[in-house]
Amino acid sequence: MPDDPARKLEAVGLICRPFCRFFKEDKDEALACEGFNFIMRVMDRLPLERLRNLHKEIPAQFEHDTLLKEVLCNRCEFLIDGCDFRDPACDYKAEPCGGYLLLDTLLREELITAGELRQTLREKSG
Ligand code: SF4
Repeated sequence: MPDDPARKLEAVGLICRPFCRFFKEDKDEALACEGFNFIMRVMDRLPLERLRNLHKEIPAQFEHDTLLKEVLCNRCEFLIDGCDFRDPACDYKAEPCGGYLLLDTLLREELITAGELRQTLREKSG
């Protein structure tokens, strides 16, 4: 139930507040980045307690970038005009959104696999 307000509030607490430098407490965003939308879809499968204890970390090497570009950025409302990280001139100095950082962390911590991410994509488009 992607539009459930309680679920959305929980996702904001898990994704945006701790992970996203673009998050503003008093701003009610009509548009959400694909990072947020994607995590909302997989939230039920994630170990929420462990998620709450994760800390934001900007990866030294973006080793999952190809995968995250495929499952998130290529479907994101901010891809064309609005995301410095995904700008064609990106040199990995601009920070990605919180959903990207959280998924990158989940992949590094092996709390989610590339196969599960792709499966979620297939379910979404299937
Ligand atoms: S990093 Fe940028 S393009 Fe990719 S999902 Fe986040 S906001 Fe969208």
